[in-house]
Amino acid sequence: MPPRGSDIPRVAPVSFWFDALDQRPAARPALPSARDADVCIVGAGFTGLWTAYELLKADPALDVVVLEREFAGFGASGRNGGWVVGEPVGSRASWAARSSAGELRRFELALRETVDEIGGVAAAEGIECDYKRAGSLQIAQTPLELQRVHERLADERVWGIEDTVLLGAAELEERVRVRGGLGAHFTPHCARVQPAKLAIGLAAAVERLGATIYEYTPVTDILAGRVSTPRGDVRAKWVVQATEGYGAGLPGRRRDVVPITSAMIVTEPLPDDAWERLGWDRAETLQDGRRMYCYLQRTADGRIAIGGRSAPYRYASQGHRERRVGREISRRLDARLRRLFGDLHEVRIEAAWQGVLGFARTWAPAVGVDRATGRAWAHGYAGDGVAAANLAGRTLTDLMLGRHSELTTLPWVGPLGRRWEPEPLRFVGIRAVYGLLGLADKLESRTGRSSRFATAANRLTGQT
Ligand SMILES: Cc1cc2nc3c(=O)[nH]c(=O)nc-3n(C[C@H](O)[C@H](O)[C@H](O)COP(=O)(O)OP(=O)(O)OC[C@H]3O[C@@H](n4cnc5c(N)ncnc54)[C@H](O)[C@@H]3O)c2cc1C
Repeated sequence: MPPRGSDIPRVAPVSFWFDALDQRPAARPALPSARDADVCIVGAGFTGLWTAYELLKADPALDVVVLEREFAGFGASGRNGGWVVGEPVGSRASWAARSSAGELRRFELALRETVDEIGGVAAAEGIECDYKRAGSLQIAQTPLELQRVHERLADERVWGIEDTVLLGAAELEERVRVRGGLGAHFTPHCARVQPAKLAIGLAAAVERLGATIYEYTPVTDILAGRVSTPRGDVRAKWVVQATEGYGAGLPGRRRDVVPITSAMIVTEPLPDDAWERLGWDRAETLQDGRRMYCYLQRTADGRIAIGGRSAPYRYASQGHRERRVGREISRRLDARLRRLFGDLHEVRIEAAWQGVLGFARTWAPAVGVDRATGRAWAHGYAGDGVAAANLAGRTLTDLMLGRHSELTTLPWVGPLGRRWEPEPLRFVGIRAVYGLLGLADKLESRTGRSSRFATAANRLTGQT
C-alpha cells in the first residue's frame, strides 16, 4: 500500500544529500496488517539496515521485517556529515575505566576495521556512495588549538595508538590551506561517504537479500516479542530498537538516549581556481579546533559541507521532529567556514538542514540483547554512528544468533550505563554543558588561554 495523504509527514526537506540523488527511490508500502516475523527491526537508518543486512547474510532463511515511520534514511543516517569514524566516541579513559585498557584496544581495532568493512560492502553491493578513505585532520589555527592537538596525540600514545601524527604548518599547507593554519592532528582511520547514497543503497541491498521494509509505519510501543503499530502488531522472536535519537518518543524510553540536533550547510560547487587555492586534494574529513567543533567534508562533486552545533536541547527530550534550520545557525556555520577558508567570500551556500542524534548519559553507546524478552538495541552513538552502526549490526547479529565472537564481548555490549536524570535536571544539565562550552570558546578566543568552563563542562558529562 503506498503512503496515503494522512500518512505522509509534513517536515522540512531531509538534506542536501537526498536532494542531490539522481533519483529518489519510490516510496515503499506501509505495513498492510498484523503479521509475524523472525526479527522485527524498528527504524530504517544505518543501525536497522546494517542489522538486517548482517542477519540475512548470516542466515538467508530468516524472515526479517523493518518498520520505518518515515522512509529509509530519513533520520540521522540520511543527514550526517559522512564521516566514517574508526575510533570510539567519548574519552578513552572512561572506556578503560568501564572495562580495561585491553578491552578498549579491542574496541578501537574493531572500529578501525569497520571503516574498511563499510567500503568493502559498498563495493561488493555496488553501492556508489562516494566512499573515500583519506583519514581526518583536526586543524589548529591558534596556539591553544595547537596545544589541544598535542594533548590529543599524547592521550593517544597513552592508549597505544601510534599511527596518528602531528602535521606542522607547512605539512598542513601541503594538504589544505586554511587561514593561519599552525598545524593539525592527522588520523588515517576515517573515510568520507555521501550518507543518503549509502542508506539508500543499503536499503536496496537488504531487500535483495529478502528483508521487507515497510515505510510510513510508526511503531507506538515495543513489548516482549511484539511491536505495536496503528496498522496491527508484528510478533517476532527478536525486536530490535534502532531508533537512535528518536527513541525517547517510545513509552518508557524517555530517559535512555536524549535527542540533540546538529545542523549542516553546503556550498555550491567551488570553481577549479578556488580548489587550486585550497588544495584539499585527498578529501580528508576536517574538523576545526574549537571546543564546539565543526566537521567538514569535501564532497565528491566539489562542494564543502560543514556541520556543527544546532538548536538547543528541548525540555523533556521533545523536538525530535525535524525543523528548518534557523537563520542564526546557518549564519554561524557560514562564519566558521570563512574562519577556516578566508577567501571563499564569492561562494554561495546552497542548502541547510539538520538532524537528530542520540546521546547516552555516559556518552557511551550500548549494543545488546535481552534473551528473556527478545529485545535488542543499539543506540547512543553521540554523533559518531556511521561506522559504529555497522559494527552494531554485526554484533547484534552474533548476539541474536547465539554466536560467541570477538564482537559479542566488546566493552559496549550490554545495557546503557546509566539513565538520564528526570526533568528538570536533564534540561538544566544539558543546557549548562552547551552554555559552558560556548562560553569557553568565546573566552579562549579572546584570552588565548584554556578556560575552566570547558573543564566544568567535561566534568558534567563525565568526559574528564
Ligand atoms: C547533522 C548530523 C551530522 C552527523 N555527522 C556524523 C558524521 O559525520 N559521522 C558519524 O559517524 N555520525 C554522524 N552523525 C550521527 C549519525 O548520523 C548517527 O549516529 C547514525 O546515522 C545513527 O543511525 P541510526 O540508524 O541508529 O539512527 P537514524 O538514522 O536516526 O534512524 C532511526 C530511524 O528510526 C525511525 N524511527 C524512529 N522512531 C520510530 C518509530 N517509533 N517507529 C518507526 N520508526 C521510527 C526514524 O524515522 C529513523 O529513520 C550525524 C548526525 C547528524 C544529525
